[in-house]
Amino acid sequence: MQYDVLIIGAGSAGLAAALTLGRCLRRVLLADGGRPRNECSPGVHGFLTRDGVTPAELLRLGHEQLRPYETVEVQCVRIERVVPEAGGFRATGRGTADDAPLSITARRVLLATGVTDVLPPLPGFRELWGRGVLHCPYCHGWEVREQPLAVYGQGRTVTGLALLVSRWSPDVVVVTNGPGHLTPNARRRLRRHHIRINEEPIARLVGTDERDLRSIEFADGSQLARAALFLHAPQLQRSTLAEEMGARITSKGAVWVDSGLQTSVRHVYAAGDTTPGAQQALIAAAEGNRAAILINESLTREECPR
Ligand SMILES: Cc1cc2nc3c(=O)[nH]c(=O)nc-3n(C[C@H](O)[C@H](O)[C@H](O)COP(=O)(O)OP(=O)(O)OC[C@H]3O[C@@H](n4cnc5c(N)ncnc54)[C@H](O)[C@@H]3O)c2cc1C
Repeated sequence: MQYDVLIIGAGSAGLAAALTLGRCLRRVLLADGGRPRNECSPGVHGFLTRDGVTPAELLRLGHEQLRPYETVEVQCVRIERVVPEAGGFRATGRGTADDAPLSITARRVLLATGVTDVLPPLPGFRELWGRGVLHCPYCHGWEVREQPLAVYGQGRTVTGLALLVSRWSPDVVVVTNGPGHLTPNARRRLRRHHIRINEEPIARLVGTDERDLRSIEFADGSQLARAALFLHAPQLQRSTLAEEMGARITSKGAVWVDSGLQTSVRHVYAAGDTTPGAQQALIAAAEGNRAAILINESLTREECPR
């Protein structure tokens, strides 16, 4: 096998795993397939010692700090296929810049491929994503605190998110883009927290040149001035590799892992947003670090049989 570990994805999870495995003197290939999930965000917030750093700068630092570790190789490649082979796996892919084919072997695989957010197909959502349209109050609530905010969605999801967002602002309006499918109890809870509900269909979001939200324009021509809109967007896996390898996927579309971050395919691990649970850059980095330790221990057990 050419490498001890193939890490697929060079976001927070993949970079943290590469750092730890480099420090274990492991031969690692870090396959950097391109942009991270948060690339359109002005800052990564809540990352210890790096609060507010741009996503690109966080990754630049991650790559820079890998440099002393000579056993870690970084390649700009998108992995397209991973198949089992005696002693490990064979992975094939293509260079993201030159389309050059790649074929390598590794004893273990770590999937750190992240997710992608599926935004409503309404004018303005994609354009303002990461700035005026936000996914998480823990990441961006402080930046828009005390300002007029909207929360988009329907049913239980929007109720929970709106109640959460009301911690950051006393002026929150739920916008449902048509029937909100809210139970009488949900409406009561929202009212009790002074959260208004607007079920008028949305025509578009109006933003500034800096991609801040200015207002929500409804189909009836009315406008609602808002500084930001939060939503829980459905997600898709950035890569279908786990599924193609036959790994178990949860009912919510995440890659299932056991308590040791191993997928249902032996010797294939997963970390970061791709797995179930909270999604934050620091959590992804911590999971990458933990997966690396568990992989190193698994390799050590193989190398040092009883
Ligand atoms: C708009 C926005 C703002 C955010 N703001 C914050 C914030 O302020 N604070 C915070 O803590 N979190 C924030 N997050 C969440 C944070 O971005 C994620 O939790 C974090 O990026 C997860 O890291 P990851 O390594 O798991 O995935 P990612 O960072 O998405 O990295 C996955 C990488 O894998 C690569 N990849 C995928 N498939 C392949 C393949 N087949 N071959 C090779 N490479 C592949 C992708 O190109 C990508 O580079 C934000 C998210 C969004 C959407």
